[in-house]
Amino acid sequence: MDLFEREQKILDDSSAYVEAIKGGELYDSSKYEKIVTEYGKLLKQLRRVTKLSDKTTVNLNTNKMDLQDKVYFDALAGIYNRRFMEERLGYIINSLGRSDSGILSVLMIDIDFFKKYNDKYGHNMGDECIKYVAQAISSSITRTDDFAARYGGEEFVAVLPNTDEKGSCAIAEKMHENVKALNIPHKKSKAASYVTISIGITTGKVSHQRKGAEFIQRADKALYMSKQGGRNKYTHLHFEEE
Ligand code: GH3
Ligand code: MG
Ligand code: MG
Repeated sequence: MDLFEREQKILDDSSAYVEAIKGGELYDSSKYEKIVTEYGKLLKQLRRVTKLSDKTTVNLNTNKMDLQDKVYFDALAGIYNRRFMEERLGYIINSLGRSDSGILSVLMIDIDFFKKYNDKYGHNMGDECIKYVAQAISSSITRTDDFAARYGGEEFVAVLPNTDEKGSCAIAEKMHENVKALNIPHKKSKAASYVTISIGITTGKVSHQRKGAEFIQRADKALYMSKQGGRNKYTHLHFEEE
């Protein structure tokens, strides 16, 4: 008998007993106690099952979150990874593309002379540097729809929905400020005495024809211009302009 069948039997037994008493049978407290004891045992078991199922639910939710962490987070940098960025960017473009006025800014960010940094300070310090810069970049972003992700190596992407040229340049300036404030020494850099970043920004209207990858390419082109221009700076390119 499973728990539900047992519960039904107890209910049936107690109803039958009540009917029997109504029909004239003499009240016998031991019979009644038996039913109550049986019900008590059943309740105890039910509570154990509920506790177990609560625990299982908590475990399942924790596992799900762990899995999401692994799939969408970069463990070294402590921010979102490229996979998250690509999926989220696709989603943003789909939803912004529905309105005529939807605009989007994308920033590509790259640490300057990082190969030299690794060579001078070692790979472990390089990893630490990536972590700090990632935090400085993501803390420059304040709106809830905006996010930053590690694109790979020492490169990052920031996605700012409904943000125009002025707004996106302000974020780039904030990133420069925050990375400067880290004041990580970089003796081999030709851009400054500390670790710096170069940024490429693009802003464009969102439409279903325009894929996320095109925004990334455009921002990458702007980044290249910042590198060519001496590094530790940002360049803004509108999507439409050549
Ligand atoms: P630029 O100013 O033009 O960007 O020069 P750069 O030296 O930063 O550019 P480059 O792309 O040549 O070098 C990137 C370096 O980043 C090379 C690679 O060894 C290092 N790197 C990539 N991923 C990691 C990582 O996870 N940890 C560490 N420590 N280094 C990494
Ligand atoms: Mg690079
Ligand atoms: Mg670099």
